[in-house]
Amino acid sequence: MLDDNCLFCKIIRGEVPSDKVYEDETMLVFKDIEPKAKVHMLAILKNHFKLLSDADMDEQKSAEVLYMLMKIPEVARANGCEKGFRIIANQGEDAGQSVFHLHFHIMGGETLPW
Ligand code: AMP
Ligand code: ZN
Repeated sequence: MLDDNCLFCKIIRGEVPSDKVYEDETMLVFKDIEPKAKVHMLAILKNHFKLLSDADMDEQKSAEVLYMLMKIPEVARANGCEKGFRIIANQGEDAGQSVFHLHFHIMGGETLPW
């Protein structure tokens, strides 16, 4: 299910352009438009969940989230993160979430500050 008013759903539909690096029937990975690391990609599901907690207690949604997480290392390695990467999910106001379609930031390509 997609949401007509959601930016990332529009990217999935091809209504907003994106620099795609990986796509299958479940998920999409594309480059962040304002990279905060040498490599900065976003992994999203082709189902509109606002928050990580929206997958809670739903077996199908949880399975999709796990699938996406398990796929990320392969996509990261193939796109400049051979020496490691960081996954970040901002959830809610305090974390500064700005797009309310669940996404994992994948960052690497250089030594990341911590
Ligand atoms: P968050 O703050 O965790 O919700 O992350 C949203 C991310 O989406 C930010 O890092 C933005 O730079 C990124 N972003 C916003 N619009 C686009 C777009 N059209 N294409 C690619 N990335 C985007
Ligand atoms: Zn969406």
